[in-house]
Amino acid sequence: MTPSILPAPAGRPIAVLSWGLGVDSTAILLRWILDPTSREFDLDDLVVLVAQTGDEWPITGELAEQYVFPLLRRHKIRLVQLARTARTKEAAGGCNYTVLDDTRSPTRCYIEGLYKLSDEMFHSGTVPQTGGKRLCSVHAKGELLDWWVGAYTQGRPYTHAVGFELGELSRRDQDLRKSKLPGRQALYPLIDWGWWREDAYDYLLRHLGVAYEKSACQMCPYALTSAKGRGRTIPRYLAAPHLAMLPLLMEHTAVALNERQGLIGGKRLADELRRHPDAGPLLALFAEHLDAQQWAVYDVRRAFVQGKDGRAASARSLEVVELGSQKDVRAHLDLIAEKHGRSVERDGIHRRLRLLNRQPTLPTAERSLVLSPATAEPKVAPAFPKMWETGLAGAAISQEELVL
Ligand code: SF4
Repeated sequence: MTPSILPAPAGRPIAVLSWGLGVDSTAILLRWILDPTSREFDLDDLVVLVAQTGDEWPITGELAEQYVFPLLRRHKIRLVQLARTARTKEAAGGCNYTVLDDTRSPTRCYIEGLYKLSDEMFHSGTVPQTGGKRLCSVHAKGELLDWWVGAYTQGRPYTHAVGFELGELSRRDQDLRKSKLPGRQALYPLIDWGWWREDAYDYLLRHLGVAYEKSACQMCPYALTSAKGRGRTIPRYLAAPHLAMLPLLMEHTAVALNERQGLIGGKRLADELRRHPDAGPLLALFAEHLDAQQWAVYDVRRAFVQGKDGRAASARSLEVVELGSQKDVRAHLDLIAEKHGRSVERDGIHRRLRLLNRQPTLPTAERSLVLSPATAEPKVAPAFPKMWETGLAGAAISQEELVL
């Protein structure tokens, strides 16, 4: 059922803040509360919107509840928390977004969300990707915010504040380019005030008395790609090893299904931790965590052809061959390898039986049987069967030769 969203009151200005719960947008909110000259609307007309991905660090919710919610309650500022209920509208049987909370006296930050970004990643056997359009953020945040704002503003003019700081001018430009909602006037208060992230951080420290932490999903690849980001994130994992289990399991599954994956721009978080002198207990916990999973032998096939635009196009088929404990599926893979007279490749703790290698020219195809925690849903891309036939022809191999 689609939750009903009442339109904004007639005759009043509309101001919306996308609150990411982190340093930047929290500083905007705090300055708007403490310094009325920093805004051009009444706090009564402000709606603070949070899209819960479900994967934020616990400290993010704790900081919000402890330091910001009391101010929202005192100033009766409206806070709306949103979440996805399913990956798609089809899976939800209608609208796949919902309102978790809509109040001027918030007490609870619902950082657990509902259908989490990590659910989506585990089901598709991948990790959030860096580069391109930040699709994880678009699906887990942007689309929900647009849904709520569109229903609330009904096309009326409104200001939409986003917490990009001076170091994020390219993200500001991208936001301006892709801004499509009618009536939206984008506002970037930190940039307008000439603030860098350090200024936002200092402001929070000065007025709240707390060293505020940057918000992000626990498996955010953007928090891991730079040395500075790793310097912030890896100590968080080491301090609370149970919080590293989600990113490590997600990465392990993604790498099993596609060895080019990894949470550090294609490189692996697990390898980074293996090089860390203090990560022994964390890695031991991860080995136990892996062993406690249900495992699968997956049959991963990919076909590569030349698309109509002349560029390479690919399609994947993912099927489950066997389910069981880690020990059982290892034994099963060894049996298949023996039958085919091939050996199982080992890549760290990964196991892969290559049955068909991709060729450098198109069309081509590849096929491997891999061991992985059984989180990924079997899926055959609609275009796959035809592309597979073409790929096999290019690889000069018949279906019969690949029977398991
Ligand atoms: S915090 Fe990182 S992983 Fe989470 S939605 Fe944003 S970019 Fe994606």
